[in-house]
Amino acid sequence: MSAWESSLRDAGSNVDWKEKLPALVGTFSSWSENIRPLALKVSKGQRLSLDDGLLLYSHPNLSEVGRLSNCIRTARFDFNAFFNSNVHVNQTNVCVLACKFCAFRRSKRATDAYSLDIEAYLDDLAQYADVVDEVHSVGGLHPDWDVDHYESLFTESKKRFPHIAIKALTAVEIKHISQLSNISFTETLSRLKKAGLDSLPGGGAEILDDDVRAIICNGKESSSEYLEIHRCAHELGIPTNCTMLFGTIETLEQRLMHMIQLRELNDETHGFQCFVPYPFLPDDSRLPEAQLATGSEILRTIAISRLMLDSIPHIKAYRMNIGDELAELALQYGADDIDGTVQKESIMHLAGSTTPLDHDRIRLARLISDAGCVPVQRNTTYEQFKVFIPPVPKQRKKLKMANL
Ligand code: SF4
Repeated sequence: MSAWESSLRDAGSNVDWKEKLPALVGTFSSWSENIRPLALKVSKGQRLSLDDGLLLYSHPNLSEVGRLSNCIRTARFDFNAFFNSNVHVNQTNVCVLACKFCAFRRSKRATDAYSLDIEAYLDDLAQYADVVDEVHSVGGLHPDWDVDHYESLFTESKKRFPHIAIKALTAVEIKHISQLSNISFTETLSRLKKAGLDSLPGGGAEILDDDVRAIICNGKESSSEYLEIHRCAHELGIPTNCTMLFGTIETLEQRLMHMIQLRELNDETHGFQCFVPYPFLPDDSRLPEAQLATGSEILRTIAISRLMLDSIPHIKAYRMNIGDELAELALQYGADDIDGTVQKESIMHLAGSTTPLDHDRIRLARLISDAGCVPVQRNTTYEQFKVFIPPVPKQRKKLKMANL
């Protein structure tokens, strides 16, 4: 089993990936005529524009968009596809906001509202502590939990589970905690880092357009605040992810401008390691005007993310949201990461996800191998990697083919 290390900034990417592109893109006559100028740009490692992104959204041949995105994915990571061993512990569903798309939040008085105190949180985590090396914790904006609460939570978690990296708190949670504590974003993040916070997830970006935000998540952090909080984290040496919730009310231009803002921030800070585009899941939530993304649109958006986001190393196919089958296919459409084992998760499942939560490393690695990729287990911050070849199943079911 081979293992290797990388820097936070490269996050496991081949450092000379742009040099590999001409050979991977190949001859231009093998591409449809209208996409050739983009193939030329990709082969030269040039950045795609908003108009290029729109052309990719309207290109009739989806598999060709996937093929072009896979040139970059392969240049960066060869055939490796990444996963980790993690668990999601959502610390509270109590939230002072009521984003329209959210099926998770509850008011404090709701009968199914919950808030895990520190002991309950640690007890939850203890059930998985032997098999995970990351806890992903996001939750509602609790009216009483300020920075002191989270400092204690992270300090106690690290005392009890020093081997578990803490990836926690979305930008809006950081904003809420800093407001409750009357301190700046930087001071909030700095104190939490000292207490044990290792990285930030990317949630809460939705679409970085304040007109869209006013409708789907009124009261949440503004687009510029989202970017500012991630900038502060990067400046403190805290790596972060970034996300995009698509398929609500946004236009294609707004999706692409969302990506452009993220890549421009990362040109300066180099702290985004992974972009996670995921579609709105309609069940049980409150956004009837949502446009809802089809399977093809999800794959296309993942592929376009890879093509537009040249400054962000990883593109994740978030299996908790899009399901294992589409996540597996997305590995041929520019994605290189399918998240982790995720033993427990509430937010996507309350919104309608049916993705299984009982996958161990072997099942996840098989899923990656079946997609034609090499399964690589990574740590939270994409600095340590180990190839994980799953054992061959004792018996493969012989599927009846049409000619039998
Ligand atoms: S998305 Fe987050 S901030 Fe918005 S209502 Fe849900 S839990 Fe609260």
